[in-house]
Amino acid sequence: MAKVLKIAEIGNPVLRSPALPIQNIQTPAVQTLIDNLLKTVKKGNGLGIAAPQVSERLQLFIVASRPNLRYLNAPTMEPMAMINPQILAYSDDTEKGWEGCLSVPGMRGLVARSREIKISYSDRYGEQHTQVFTDFVARIIQHEYDHINGKVFLDRVESTLDMMSETEYHARIACA
Ligand code: ZN
Repeated sequence: MAKVLKIAEIGNPVLRSPALPIQNIQTPAVQTLIDNLLKTVKKGNGLGIAAPQVSERLQLFIVASRPNLRYLNAPTMEPMAMINPQILAYSDDTEKGWEGCLSVPGMRGLVARSREIKISYSDRYGEQHTQVFTDFVARIIQHEYDHINGKVFLDRVESTLDMMSETEYHARIACA
């Protein structure tokens, strides 16, 4: 049975260390970690989660967009694991949007991201893909990709005026 894992929060050095490539995707340890991340992101009402957020320094993240209590207007997709990902291209066209993070509880920040990205990655079966993603899902991927490079969304907020508590965000932005 999959387990809900403990989330490392901002201040924990694991969030600031670059993650390492996964050599063998098919091992039970990696497959169990993927199942546990899927369960953890669902429990936390997240849209994605990266292995460093559960203190595993591995190049692996889950993208799992769907509407939930923390993100009312998120598009629905089948949750997917991206392993050893590499963003190959970023569009010059960027858009600012509000982000939150399970590792930065209670905060939201306005972050500029490319509207379109091209990424190569392995899926959990070890199959290699190269795909283009746009808008909201491209934003989630860029956020998670930052995690495996030791970055968090706060690093990309241009001004402290672009930060809000989760409560104020829900009162002012999400319901506006
Ligand atoms: Zn995050």
